[in-house]
Amino acid sequence: MKDLYYFAAWTDSGCLLGCDHHHQTVASAAACISCGGAYVIAVENGKYRALNNVEEAEFQKAMYGTEPVQAETAQRGLLIQVSAFIRIQVEPKA
Ligand SMILES: [Zn+2]
Repeated sequence: MKDLYYFAAWTDSGCLLGCDHHHQTVASAAACISCGGAYVIAVENGKYRALNNVEEAEFQKAMYGTEPVQAETAQRGLLIQVSAFIRIQVEPKA
């Protein structure tokens, strides 16, 4: 069984912040989001990764109930920024 959990993440003044929980589902992590522009990050076997298509759909459903094109586009743009930031933070330790 793979080690997988999710946490809510957001940026503030250029810093990546996130909740300290190990959410078992995307919807649970999404419920933890309390501000706009936040996202859910998956942690699989100790490594950060973006949500896959199934998880992304679950996130959109949890956040919006539907999949509005504009919101989805905005969230994907944020994900790219967050992913790039995590990569910078993680690589020196690897
Ligand atoms: Zn949380």
